[in-house]
Amino acid sequence: MNIALIAHDAKKELMTEFCIAYCGILSRHTLCATGTTGKIVSEMTGLDIKCYLSGTQGGDQQIGARIACNEIDLLLFFRDPLTAKPEESGEENLLRLCDVHTIPVATNIATAEALIHSLARGDLDWRDIVNPKN
Ligand code: PGA
Repeated sequence: MNIALIAHDAKKELMTEFCIAYCGILSRHTLCATGTTGKIVSEMTGLDIKCYLSGTQGGDQQIGARIACNEIDLLLFFRDPLTAKPEESGEENLLRLCDVHTIPVATNIATAEALIHSLARGDLDWRDIVNPKN
């Protein structure tokens, strides 16, 4: 499955720890990320991650375009709820597109943990039926 990773600056360390913890599961899937998130996580985990532009340069929108084409099966988007971001409306749109395409999305680590266990159990395999090219 295609999994996209995005983490705001205050959540990058948490995303890295999450990916270290679940490296075994994540390595069985195709990963992409916004630029800085992907660079840090791949350096710290050795995971193969396609890195788009950094979020401020439009990386969120590149991932959004893939979501719009129904090419992403799971979005892990660790948001910092305490810092307002200039590109916030773009981020709201990412979540909207996940709803349009019924794509499982986690915006915090608690939901991400639940989804990663679902992924490991095969509970998200219905995405392969919706999106057979994965
Ligand atoms: P980044 O983008 O991974 O390039 O930092 C994420 C974000 O929008 O903060």
